[in-house]
Amino acid sequence: MGFFSKIGQGLKKTRDSLMGTVNSLLHSFTKIDDELFEELEEILITGDVSVTAAEDICTQLRETVKERGITDPSQIRELLRETVADMLRGGQELALSTSPSVILVIGVNGVGKTTSIGKMAALFKSQGKKVVLGAADTFRAAAIEQLEIWAERTDTPIVKHTQGADPAAVVFDTLAAAKARGADVAICDTAGRLHNKKNLMDELGKISRVIDRELPDADREVLLVLDATTGQNAVNQVREFRAAAGITGIILTKLDGTARGGVVLTIRKELDVPVKFIGVGEGIDDLQPFDPDEFADGLFGE
Ligand code: GDP
Ligand code: MG
Repeated sequence: MGFFSKIGQGLKKTRDSLMGTVNSLLHSFTKIDDELFEELEEILITGDVSVTAAEDICTQLRETVKERGITDPSQIRELLRETVADMLRGGQELALSTSPSVILVIGVNGVGKTTSIGKMAALFKSQGKKVVLGAADTFRAAAIEQLEIWAERTDTPIVKHTQGADPAAVVFDTLAAAKARGADVAICDTAGRLHNKKNLMDELGKISRVIDRELPDADREVLLVLDATTGQNAVNQVREFRAAAGITGIILTKLDGTARGGVVLTIRKELDVPVKFIGVGEGIDDLQPFDPDEFADGLFGE
């Protein structure tokens, strides 16, 4: 299956719900007026687009309509696609130019961290990169085993300790292994739940300091994994994790299972953190680098 259809399929639920309503709105108007924009704004908001993001989109649309002298409501759909792509553009490139570089994957339990790591390992390997995985979610034995399964599946070396071990020590050993093996990317899993939140945040701080010390000049991505099905609650998770670790980007998973794909616009507008990957299924190739044009196409394209 090609790249286009994967994203298209992953966004199907959002597209069906959002575009269905937008289309009938546009059909019900014969001219472009304030009422049309007001109703469009409402529709976007019910599609998990935040109020300010929806306002921004409509303000931009009004300007473009005026500039280009557009009068036919049926042209709004294409303008919407264009506006959304523009709004999402920028910052989605991964900074992984050093060898090794480090990706730290963080986020609450069950959002798809370990799965996304497996998918990233497969993707980077297909690009000819050498990858090392670090099982720094030591909170449950099953978490280590799950990453091991992905390591086997992608034929990638993994560094692990036993359950309950110090995650920062696992990261230390992972970075050492990456250096020793001449790896291009070290990807570290982390726990999403500890005895309490302070514990979790302290632990992430400690892991960050280990990376600072061991690979001070390495490129680093700190990717927060968010489950798209949680909609706007995801925004709160960004705020919490951002305080503990300098997030460089988002992996938004489970877009295939939800009509809440509009949350991508909310994240962009409210938090100004770029989405770098989207998860559109449970399979090994169901992680796509985020492409604003593909995304906007998937939502509003023909
Ligand atoms: P973790 O606790 O953050 O490490 O989450 P896991 O990687 O264990 O994933 C939790 C569940 O979400 C698993 O059943 C995954 O297969 C599933 N999952 C992860 N990403 C996606 C995705 O993009 N789409 C779908 N449908 N399921 C996903
Ligand atoms: Mg996990």
